[in-house]
Amino acid sequence: RSNYRHLVVGVDTKVPLQNGQYTTAINFDNAASTPPFVSVMEEINHFAHMYSSIHRGTGYKSRVSSKLFEEARSTVLKFVNADPFRDTVIFVKNTTEGINKLSYRLWDGNKKSVILSTWMEHHSNDLPWRNKFQVDYVQTDSTGKLSLEDLETRLIKHKGNVKLVTVTGASNVTGYVNPIHKIAELTHRYQAKILVDGAQLVPHNSINMNPKNPLQRIDYLTFSAHKMYAPFGTGVLIGPQETFQKGVSEFVGGGTAETVTHNWVVWEPPPHNEEAGTPNLMGVIALVAAIKTLTSLGMKNIDHYENQLTTYANSKLKSIPGITLYSHTDPGEPRIGVIPFNIKGIAHEQVARILSNQAGIAVRTGCFCTQPYIQRLLSISPKQMDFYRKRRDVPRPGIVRLSFGLYNDFSEIDILTQLLERIVRHPASYI
Ligand code: PMP
Repeated sequence: RSNYRHLVVGVDTKVPLQNGQYTTAINFDNAASTPPFVSVMEEINHFAHMYSSIHRGTGYKSRVSSKLFEEARSTVLKFVNADPFRDTVIFVKNTTEGINKLSYRLWDGNKKSVILSTWMEHHSNDLPWRNKFQVDYVQTDSTGKLSLEDLETRLIKHKGNVKLVTVTGASNVTGYVNPIHKIAELTHRYQAKILVDGAQLVPHNSINMNPKNPLQRIDYLTFSAHKMYAPFGTGVLIGPQETFQKGVSEFVGGGTAETVTHNWVVWEPPPHNEEAGTPNLMGVIALVAAIKTLTSLGMKNIDHYENQLTTYANSKLKSIPGITLYSHTDPGEPRIGVIPFNIKGIAHEQVARILSNQAGIAVRTGCFCTQPYIQRLLSISPKQMDFYRKRRDVPRPGIVRLSFGLYNDFSEIDILTQLLERIVRHPASYI
């Protein structure tokens, strides 16, 4: 069993099966959101007694709340080894908001400016760039891994115009971990900056924004609390203060201005000019509690355990005939605990429904907001996509995704694979 199981809320929750009986829920959908840590919920309860309006409140509780909110920025900086003198931590709603925010800040109105995204990006790291820049996509190879050769080719092709290379730290579809420091080095060689979408990487691996080699530093990083054992509603965007000093944020209002007349405004310095309106104090307190727990467990230990789970699940799935696996890593190659698969002859949504109805197993199916990548992994042609574009009524192709958290057990994987074996052997009894 997982040594971390007792640290997470709701692991023993019972859910109904199709036959009317109840079973302990199995959650293999951690790449979407993780359940909260017990420590996070305790901190929320504890802090609720001290909770009060921040920044301009003068009461004792307000002063404590404001102090904790500001101190949270240092906790986040330390967690990812950002540079306390150079970088600022902006609290946002989630990764999507972090990327949108940066896209507005980097928007220069220059039609020649290029953003290099990749074929494996979540829509959140693709769509925000499209209406502001030329976007070009770095290729993936036949197994879906990012091609560094293609990155360099495109850096050369757009030389002088690449504003940013934006890449996921780890894929939410295949679990591949990208070599972010090598990518940073290449990017910096061509005088561009790098953003790492840390939504999937940060909860599972340690991340170092400032390695020894300055060419390998990560300029911008964003991630979401709800994927790292804290509740929804809080995310982080980290980057050089300088980026956020000039111009005006996409959202302005309370908290963003120092002096206002009807004729002019003096904006607050970053990060405050980027956090319009009353901030999500409770969410930030929860994120800090999650970071403390993750740090005390050790990201290396978490990565090690989740890798064992993934290797175990992969080897069991490989031995079931009729299962196609879409991610391929060699032993020792970094990855996170995400496994995409399909069962021959059974639609992905149906597989998910059977797993839930028969064994209380939660997975996710479809395209995971990463449609171009899925089209590539499933070899869906542009012509086929044109057909889907016209026919909203036709079910879409997709994939079943397992994604593990630190509290998942080997025995849960056994329950899954035993059921998958039965489905493959007697599909008619389940469909
Ligand atoms: N990037 C990746 C790689 C993701 O997996 C996700 C969430 N599925 C996001 C971005 C968006 O995260 P959020 O919904 O928290 O904004």
